[in-house]
Formats: sequence, C-alpha cells, structure tokens
Amino acid sequence: MEKSASGAVPQQHKLGIALVGLGTYSKEQLAPALKETKYCELRGIVTGSPEKIPYWKEEYGIKDHNIYHYDNFEEIASNNEIDIVYIVLPNSQHANYTLRAAKAGKHVICEKPMAISVRECEEMIAACTENHVKLGIGYRLHFDPFHQQVMGWGQGQHGKLEKISGEHSMLLEDPAAWRLQRKFAGGGPLMDVGIYVVQASCYTAGQLPIAVKEASFGEVTHPDIYQTVEQSIHWTLEFPDGVTASGTCSYAKDADLLSGTAASGTWKLEPAYAYNGIKGQINGERMDFPEVNQQALQMDEFAGAVLHDRETKVPGEMGLRDVRILMAIYEAAETGNPVSLYQ
Ligand code: NDP
Repeated sequence: MEKSASGAVPQQHKLGIALVGLGTYSKEQLAPALKETKYCELRGIVTGSPEKIPYWKEEYGIKDHNIYHYDNFEEIASNNEIDIVYIVLPNSQHANYTLRAAKAGKHVICEKPMAISVRECEEMIAACTENHVKLGIGYRLHFDPFHQQVMGWGQGQHGKLEKISGEHSMLLEDPAAWRLQRKFAGGGPLMDVGIYVVQASCYTAGQLPIAVKEASFGEVTHPDIYQTVEQSIHWTLEFPDGVTASGTCSYAKDADLLSGTAASGTWKLEPAYAYNGIKGQINGERMDFPEVNQQALQMDEFAGAVLHDRETKVPGEMGLRDVRILMAIYEAAETGNPVSLYQ
C-alpha cells in the first residue's frame, strides 16, 4: 500500500466502516478510536434513532448517503464507500445483522458475545464464508500489551502453568436495561463480562478447555431485578495437563482481575479488562507497558486482514468457540454435572 512521507495511509485508501447501533460503546469508544486508525475510518452509521444523527454528522462528517436505518440497511450493498460493517447492537441482534451484512457483501466485525447460541454463530460463519467476506469479533484485549504478555504464560514462560483465576463483575441494577433481559442478552453477566474471563483463560492456557469441571449460580439477592438472567455465576474450566481456570462474574458488584500461578511465577492483572489503566504485577514486580488504544488496534488489524486477504487474529471461529464454552458453563450450572468440551 502507498504511504505518504509521514508514513500515513492516504485517506482514499482507508477502508470505510459503518457502525450499526449508536449506543454507549459506539459513541464513547469505537467512533473516537476510528479517529486514530490508520487503515480504516468511520464513514457510515446505521441507527434506529434519527435524533442521534445530527451529532454524528457534526462530529464525524458522516455524509447523508452513508446514513441508514434498520429497515433500509440492505441498501448498503450498493455503497462502495462502506467496506466493513461493525455490529454494536444488543447481543440477540448480532446474528441477524451479520447475516444481512454478509449478504450485502460487506466484511463484518461483530461485538462480543458473537451471538446468543452456538447455532447462530455457525450460521454467521457460514453466511460470511458463502458471501466471501471476513468475520471478526470485537475482542479488543488481544491487542493490549498486558494481555499479549499473558498469552505467553501458558507456553511455559514461568514453568508449567498450574492455575488461572479471574473475575469480571459490573454493577447493573437498571431493570429496563437490555442486558437484564434474556431475550436481548441471551444470558446475564456471563454473556456480557464473564466472557472476558473465559477468553483470558483460553489465551493464557494457549489451549482449548477439555471440560467445564463445575459451575454454579450465585445467590440471588435482588430477585426483583434479576428475573430472566443470572445475577452471578462461578465456574471452573479444565485444560489439558491438569491446568484449571476458575472464573466468577456478577451484576451485583464491581470486580476486574485475572491472576495465574505457574511453577516459577505468579502474576496478577487488576484492573484486567479495562479499556485503559490496566495494571499488572509479576512475582511482585510491576509490569510496565505503554497505554494503547485497544479498539483502534483491533479495527486496524481487521482492516489489514481485509486489505491483505489474511485471517484476523480474532475470527468468527473464536467467537463460536467462546459461545460454546459459555453454553457449557450454563449447562453445568443448571444440571450440577461436568460438561465435556474439546476432548
Ligand atoms: P447500548 O445499549 O449502549 O447500545 C445499543 C444500541 O443498539 C442502542 O443505542 C441502539 O442504537 C441499538 N438498539 C437497537 N435495538 C435496540 C434495542 N431493542 N434495545 C436497545 N438498543 C437497541 O449497548 P452497548 O453499546 O453497551 O453494547 C452494544 C454491544 O457492544 C453489545 O453486544 C455489547 O456486548 C458490546 N460491547 C462490547 C464492549 C467491548 O469492550 N468489546 C464494551 C461494551 C459493549 P440506535 O439508537 O442507534 O438504534
């Protein structure tokens, strides 16, 4: 690709992204990050809230012909300015919009969790394959240096890995929130924030879990609020060679940590899953990495995958793997029995 003397990619060569769903994550994180990306930029929006449009036009210079609502979304197929559609909707709509974007011939980034069932994830992968478009998941932490460090620990950097442990909890008490309604969220904190602990367990271990060893729902202290989704859940994943990874998540408090023990080292990240300000210690010494814009790096990596026709580091198959694990955790919690996974 051509570059200017400053090393920047010329604007006309950047890929155009359209954000679908202009909620908190789009507005506060993804759109600002798209001001920092080198290989892609914000060109389009898809929204069901016309009152939001003036802000986006003013802040990001979105042109009228790049603004869609959910009903005319299919028209994006003929828009050559949009290369990538980024789905930032409630979880239950991820599959529907991925299928529609793929049919429109657009590459897709879909937020986590990829979907609310294994079947939906499989359909999303099939649709993208069939339409020759790429599918990536919004797993931003793969692009954070603290988490990239974590990825080496399972590969014996500190001797044989023994145990991983994590918690990601977020206080959420608004009964009207879509995250508290199963039909929109597909589940509770496990789908929303626990998924980060599952992800981190897999990339720390560098292997697939062979089973959910045990799982249990926590006590429900606010039955009025947590009516259709769990308030909290705890689980233990079993990896090959006796490595275990325990995780907890809840909507009734805040917590944010990941720790591990190996034969010759212990480490801890806290906060671990934040957009910035991650702090880490290894054998009591502070880990030191520069702040990065996780979302900008994540979107640029996907744009690079499109531009150079290579696989993204966070493909749909990874999203499917994780939803399969989440469903197995729910099954283990509901039945009280272990559930086999990748054996
Ligand atoms: P919000 O509730 O803030 O925004 C969701 C947006 O989706 C709404 O603003 C709305 O946009 C649109 N929407 C369409 N239908 C509905 C509906 N029935 N109910 C509510 N909203 C609807 O959610 P977030 O931005 O926090 O989360 C969106 C997705 O992003 C989720 O899948 C979440 O898991 C993921 N996420 C990922 C993060 C990460 O770090 N990777 C962090 C936060 C969220 P409009 O008005 O434009 O139509």
